[in-house]
Amino acid sequence: MKFSFFTLFPQLIQPYFQQSIMGNAHKKGIIEVNCINIRDFATNKYKKVDDTLTGGGAGMLLNPFVLHCALQQALDTRIIFLSPCGAKFTQQDAKRLSQYQHISFVCGRYEGFDERIIELYATEIFSIGDFILSGGELAALCMADSIARNLASVLGSEESLQGESFESNLLEAPNFTKSKDFDKNFPNFLPTSEYLKGNHAIIVDLKFKMSKMKTQYFRPDLFQSLARIQ
Ligand code: SAH
Repeated sequence: MKFSFFTLFPQLIQPYFQQSIMGNAHKKGIIEVNCINIRDFATNKYKKVDDTLTGGGAGMLLNPFVLHCALQQALDTRIIFLSPCGAKFTQQDAKRLSQYQHISFVCGRYEGFDERIIELYATEIFSIGDFILSGGELAALCMADSIARNLASVLGSEESLQGESFESNLLEAPNFTKSKDFDKNFPNFLPTSEYLKGNHAIIVDLKFKMSKMKTQYFRPDLFQSLARIQ
């Protein structure tokens, strides 16, 4: 799968794909990463990429013509704009988008985009939450990471994907290590006894119950939608 990032700061993107799980996926060729510097498409002498707002107002917008020129590179891809006005990105979106061959992320800066460039080019628009970032790069990286995790062989074990939080609107059940050091130092704070006994069927059942309780406690909104489904 290929990710293209349209950005003014390619240096923010590349290092993320050199470390850890994404680094391995990149090395193995499961994901390909391409950064397109929007500034390369500025035609003016000073390579200026921002412009003032029509009708007044504070700040600048990315010049839509420069973006239009840059986005000619993305025409046969799924073009995702990062913007606070977009749909809130979810695990379901991550799974769905992992089916595409090539996704382009368009990262805003300054006060964001001229609406017309979104209208002309966006296949989808996403926000990663109700807060404002200084640019779309972090949001695009969040999305790319969570999309790529769903590709075969990116995670060490396919099992890791099963039962993860947000599958079937539940949070993952509490997990505990076998750390002897920790248990020795906190003898009154041992994991749930059924986990220690090792009966697989009982543990699966208990994990499901705890997963529901954890969801009810930490995410009552998710829990309510779960109740509606069942
Ligand atoms: N003035 C805009 C915010 C611009 S922030 C507004 O009030 O809506 C600059 C850029 O950061 C945006 O164009 C977008 O690409 C990115 N960005 C900021 N917050 C974001 C969020 N919650 N989700 C996704 N992208 C975001």
